[in-house]
Amino acid sequence: MRKLFIFLSACFLAFGLMSCTPPDVTDATDDWENMFKPEEDKGDTGDQSGDNPGGTVTPEDPKDDIYPDDRFFRMRGVVMGWSDCRYREALDYIAIAKEHGLNTFSIYGADRSSAEWKTFYSEMEKAGIHLEFQEHMMSFLLPRSLFSSHPEYFRMNEQGTRVEDANGCPSSEGALAEVYKNAIEIGKRYKSTNHKYYFWLDDGGGVCHCDKCKQYNDADQALIFENVIIDALKTFDPDATLAHLCYANTTEPPKKVTPHPDIFLEFAPFYRRWTNPLSDTWIQGDHGWTHAKYLKSLSDHLKVFPAETAQVLEYWMDDSLFSGWNPNNLKEVPWNYEGVFLNDLDTYASYGIRYITCYCAYVGPNYVKKFGFPQFLVDYASGLYNYEPKK
Ligand SMILES: [Zn+2]
Repeated sequence: MRKLFIFLSACFLAFGLMSCTPPDVTDATDDWENMFKPEEDKGDTGDQSGDNPGGTVTPEDPKDDIYPDDRFFRMRGVVMGWSDCRYREALDYIAIAKEHGLNTFSIYGADRSSAEWKTFYSEMEKAGIHLEFQEHMMSFLLPRSLFSSHPEYFRMNEQGTRVEDANGCPSSEGALAEVYKNAIEIGKRYKSTNHKYYFWLDDGGGVCHCDKCKQYNDADQALIFENVIIDALKTFDPDATLAHLCYANTTEPPKKVTPHPDIFLEFAPFYRRWTNPLSDTWIQGDHGWTHAKYLKSLSDHLKVFPAETAQVLEYWMDDSLFSGWNPNNLKEVPWNYEGVFLNDLDTYASYGIRYITCYCAYVGPNYVKKFGFPQFLVDYASGLYNYEPKK
């Protein structure tokens, strides 16, 4: 998410605290309540299967063999850099996980052939912590070096020119074959112990506007690739599941393409504000994304993807975001345990979501040096572990 981070950091700094006061609470809340009334109350008889706005999780929810404990939030994860977690004497993520109930790490930037990594991995394994790898992957699945020989694999921009700046043309059989082949190779290299895989589109990159692709929105185009990637992953990991990331340009749900049953929703509300919970629906984040709009988007996505497997990727502890992606000027994580974090957990639980992870980038030795031990990591872990949904 780095390129978009740099651009958005300017937006964040510019608009950071400007929108935290509800301009007209009563009206905004009324709108929100109306938005989430069941469709039949609005006189709409459309098919609501899979829709679970504000719903509750029932005891019939299927068990998850990968996350078998009886906690409400089955997956309790963090996504961080190798430089954040490798210096265990400064900040011991593995010890925190063991003691407070985290069970999944996604770690970027590690040399996985190094002895240091192998030791770390073995400690994770002993502690029962799953390893996965969440990343933007299109430039690896469809190497840009192929552009000179196969421009048709790549996206057409809005001016009608094939360009290799991002993503690709999902209507190109050759591009899909390349993605399939590379997904097997990369998937094996970054094999997940929880069978979850993440091959996100390029961060903030454009999609294809060729004659065949222009009927598809960004999420549809992502799904065409993802439906190929999941088949590729199944060749070496029959239990593989694959994320469809709702983030940046894929915040609109897919309209035309049906996801493979083992593709799960990953909801990443990047444009929200963390000064307020999502339930403060009037709060306006970047690019016009109010919290109400995010909840509507989540609800709409859960008409396409099952709630039982849906996952949230949050930023409550993402100090790269709060520091404007400047590691030399770390800011303190604005952690609000009850008012934001627990309130958000109530919101996510009400949609039936039981898989949660969160960026923890820049929360490493330098953070500890500047601000002391990040108690919010313990709060996050134990808050997820001990959570019980409201009756
Ligand atoms: Zn195309």
